[in-house]
Amino acid sequence: MGNSLDIAIAGAGPAGLATALYLKRAGHRVTVFERFDEPRPVGSGLILQPTGLTVLADLGLLDDIMALGSRIERLHGTDAKTGRTVLDVRYDAQRGGRFGVAVHRAALFGVLFRAVRREAIPIETGVEVETLETGERAVLICGNGRRAGPFDLVVDASGSRSKLRKCLNDPAEERPLAYGAFWASLGWRGDGFDEHALLQRYDKASVMIGVLPIGRPEPGAEKMAAFFWSLKPADVESVRAAGPEAWKARAVGLWPECEGYTSQVDSFDQLSLARYGHHTLKLPAGRRLAVIGDAAHSTSPQLGQGANMALLDAAALNYALLRTGGIDAALEAYVVARRWHVRVFQALSLMLTPFYQSDSLVMPFVRDRLVATVARIPPAPQFLASMVAGTVVDPFRRIGLAEAQWPSGG
Ligand SMILES: Cc1cc2nc3c(=O)[nH]c(=O)nc-3n(C[C@H](O)[C@H](O)[C@H](O)COP(=O)(O)OP(=O)(O)OC[C@H]3O[C@@H](n4cnc5c(N)ncnc54)[C@H](O)[C@@H]3O)c2cc1C
Repeated sequence: MGNSLDIAIAGAGPAGLATALYLKRAGHRVTVFERFDEPRPVGSGLILQPTGLTVLADLGLLDDIMALGSRIERLHGTDAKTGRTVLDVRYDAQRGGRFGVAVHRAALFGVLFRAVRREAIPIETGVEVETLETGERAVLICGNGRRAGPFDLVVDASGSRSKLRKCLNDPAEERPLAYGAFWASLGWRGDGFDEHALLQRYDKASVMIGVLPIGRPEPGAEKMAAFFWSLKPADVESVRAAGPEAWKARAVGLWPECEGYTSQVDSFDQLSLARYGHHTLKLPAGRRLAVIGDAAHSTSPQLGQGANMALLDAAALNYALLRTGGIDAALEAYVVARRWHVRVFQALSLMLTPFYQSDSLVMPFVRDRLVATVARIPPAPQFLASMVAGTVVDPFRRIGLAEAQWPSGG
């Protein structure tokens, strides 16, 4: 699209910040609206997959993020009681030199936020975006009755509890998932851990403990790990009531080496509780409105694709606007470019999560037998690698993006 548009972006998470960068560079006038007084990252750590990394490379930010994060070569999970391997995925099961990069959320946020600042993109903070009035153009209705705009296009990047998506005809609402998790970012302890792997321990599907090396939140800071413990939000009160020592003893009983992490936790205040929900919008666009990232599709982090899908959405919207001749056509092109990739990964996540986080006894039983046998027989390792990488369905071609060329070696 040749002409320059007035664009509002609701939310300064990965989706919103990446979109702001793309659209400013494409020559549009962009304003970001964020509810926090100071924009800040939420949560602990995450893995950037070849999908999300390709988008960061496209934005010229790959070196910045790789300098902070930890290169991940494999995901490995073990049954805590039997020691049996029940998850073993290696990126190099497929050709192409792919890998993941695990990052502290502050690192991803900081890299995007500094780039947004460099481009002098205005961010209005302390603004709660409530809804949208759409006539000739679109006006944002914010908290305290403030009206912002008019805008040619509004991008809803306000996360899984978006208010703006209610403006769509079919605003699918989030369904809470049974399991959530305690998360903490703790100092990295190498003993018994691999700096290039996500390691997990399971007790059936009701306990999952994970240690993910996430590098540094900012240059010069100490190396960290994301430590997580899955549990049902409904059980949080009883776990808290029993006290941190009882919880730590249980974790160390299942995974003795993780004492290096649990010993850094003195109080439950150091752990944040993440609740997970699942929803997928059938049509993540309306009149003058594009819905992207978790606002359009949220799920459990079992497959670790959320932030990556948010970045792909940002790229898809940008290239749709560049390719087409009008806003309606661009929104349609955005929806088409992302449809299959989003649907397939949302379905896979919904299907696989109960094998790792549920009260079921049958599912972990099947999982343990299956992974021990079938998952090692080609083409299963290749399929699992592409599932983790986010490439089971090619996410790049429909967007008009070429996958980054991966540097080899560590
Ligand atoms: C514990 C946990 C672990 C995860 N692990 C992974 C992983 O390993 N890999 C992965 O890819 N993904 C992971 N995810 C998912 C990932 O965090 C999300 O998919 C990603 O953050 C989505 O980005 P987003 O920009 O769409 O939304 P968000 O990051 O939620 O950002 C939304 C922004 O909008 C702002 N906002 C919200 N409402 C309003 C409003 N009304 N007005 C103004 N501003 C508003 C918020 O303050 C926030 O800044 C994980 C999620 C959780 C909870």
